[in-house]
Amino acid sequence: MKNRRNTSSLNPARPSFERRKFFALAALPLALTAGSVAAKFGLSPNSSRGNRMETEPASDGALTFTKLERSKAEWRELLSPDAYDVLFRAGTERPWSSAFNDEKRDGKFICAACYLPLFDASTKFDSGTGWPSFFQPIEGRVVTSRDFKLLVPRTEYHCARCGGHQGHVFNDGPRPTGKRYCNNGVALAFVPEGEALPALRT
Ligand SMILES: [Zn+2]
Repeated sequence: MKNRRNTSSLNPARPSFERRKFFALAALPLALTAGSVAAKFGLSPNSSRGNRMETEPASDGALTFTKLERSKAEWRELLSPDAYDVLFRAGTERPWSSAFNDEKRDGKFICAACYLPLFDASTKFDSGTGWPSFFQPIEGRVVTSRDFKLLVPRTEYHCARCGGHQGHVFNDGPRPTGKRYCNNGVALAFVPEGEALPALRT
């Protein structure tokens, strides 16, 4: 990420190779419980804040994570005003405002706040609503709750790790799930296939 205060700008601009290399190296010690690689880089696997063992394996298949607790004041410092408004004030971005509406590449959509991968690009579909839409999140990565903001109850969903609001889920999506996860683009960042996922934010 060129600018950590504005994670929504992660794409379509491609981070430089050196940046990616840095992330790959930074993530590596945390991704391994064995100490050998960590020792090679002179880092302890437990060097992350709070001694937490947060891992982000390349396959993303066996991710374990602990909840990330941060104050709203801290998030306001870290995020762009637009991203903060959506993620931690449950705002809604203007339709058609996200470049992710047209994002067609393979890859992962990650939480713009804590970088937890939430959706695989293979589950994205063109809903015609003006918001990036998915028919299925990665298992266990989003949590739902009821939202009465528009008087009619809706189902809000948020990142399972940091609690950041992502969007609303409706029952008019395509097969195979019939669900439409209507997501605010500014609450996501995109990592194309073949590029290293950033280490989870701590
Ligand atoms: Zn998150």
